[in-house]
Amino acid sequence: MQTITNLSSQELMQLEDQYGAHNYHPLPVVLAKGEGVHVWDVEGKKYYDFLSAYSAVNQGHCHPRITKALVDQAGQLALTSRAFYNDKLGAYEKFMSEYFGFDKILPMNTGAEGVETAIKICRKWGYEKKGIANGEAKIIVCGENFHGRTVTIISFSSDPDAKGNFGPYTPGFVSIPYNSIEALQKVLEAEGKNVAGFLVEPIQGEAGVNTPADGFLKKAYDLCQEHKVLFIGDEIQTGIARTGKLLACDYDGVKPNILILGKALSGGAYPVSAVLADNHIMEVIKPGQHGSTYGGNPLACAVAMEALKIVTEEKLAENAFELGNIFRERMQNLVDTCDLVTLVRGKGLLNAIIINDTPDSSTAWDICVALSENGLLAKPTHGNIIRFAPPLVMTKEQLNECCDIIENTIRNFKK
Ligand SMILES: *Cc1c(COP(=O)(O)O)cnc(C)c1O
Repeated sequence: MQTITNLSSQELMQLEDQYGAHNYHPLPVVLAKGEGVHVWDVEGKKYYDFLSAYSAVNQGHCHPRITKALVDQAGQLALTSRAFYNDKLGAYEKFMSEYFGFDKILPMNTGAEGVETAIKICRKWGYEKKGIANGEAKIIVCGENFHGRTVTIISFSSDPDAKGNFGPYTPGFVSIPYNSIEALQKVLEAEGKNVAGFLVEPIQGEAGVNTPADGFLKKAYDLCQEHKVLFIGDEIQTGIARTGKLLACDYDGVKPNILILGKALSGGAYPVSAVLADNHIMEVIKPGQHGSTYGGNPLACAVAMEALKIVTEEKLAENAFELGNIFRERMQNLVDTCDLVTLVRGKGLLNAIIINDTPDSSTAWDICVALSENGLLAKPTHGNIIRFAPPLVMTKEQLNECCDIIENTIRNFKK
């Protein structure tokens, strides 16, 4: 078989187009290298990464400490399965328990698996601890959510693309508008007896960095406790310093009953996810009832521990908080002086701007193409919204340079 080397970006895009399923629509940029806040394409052009692989690369591309942890552990022991103990898992679980303040962790690999795990724990808890009649458990979710791509998860999606023609769907979910305490209260008062959980993103990243009112999470959490309902925080995108705190729920002083983490838990080196809960919840899962071949493997444990130590030691939450304020201030100035942008919103370094055009227009896409030509990579979400989420290892000087690029690109943009 011939191996293919030294192809141009055009040729590489053509290969993906011909041989890969068309389940994504990438910007026309082919990346070959990453370091910190930068990535390089095949032709050697350098870019600022303002997506960070959907916030998986909070620690920056190819962080040398994460790479070292990965390589060292890969040469030692990579996978045992959970049929046997391994010498990394216990230490990792203790570390996670102390780092996030929960009794126990259940390790998985991808974000969607983490969400599935949380749903299973929540339902089982509903039957065995809350006393819901068998088969009757409900979980409340929010409109415009994004929790992953499994059949059960897309069953409660409101996005026709995510959901269409993938049925039959998993029942047992009740959807309410995001950020509506009234709607949550209404469902809990009407059918709270059968509700096991409330699954929520503290900020809806995929929906366009939909940021709830201050206090929404706290009020929702309090209502859940009142009705003996588990508050499940999906912090796969918002967690691990992205929003300027370790967890976005920290802004409201809320500790979820079940916490789901993924993405930046590994700093982008490897798929690692985790579900955390206290004993009285986690104990409903017994041997044989849930698992994953790769979940909790030594490689994942080594990588995740190093990735989290970096978050603390390099003060990434503090940096995201500070740079986020500068970013929104500069973008607000753009909103105030340029007709093409109507709003900036977000927390820490998870932000979005809204482009003054319809969601089915190509304007936001065309702006992202122009941004890439000017050396900055971002991607539209929901048509006319552009999410900006750079690695958290960015410096103030770099951020200001990036704001210059964004401002100049948008001010000079011609539809
Ligand atoms: C990315 C994401 C997921 C799914 O994670 P995968 O690793 O892609 O399965 C779930 N919830 C949220 C909030 C996410 O951002």
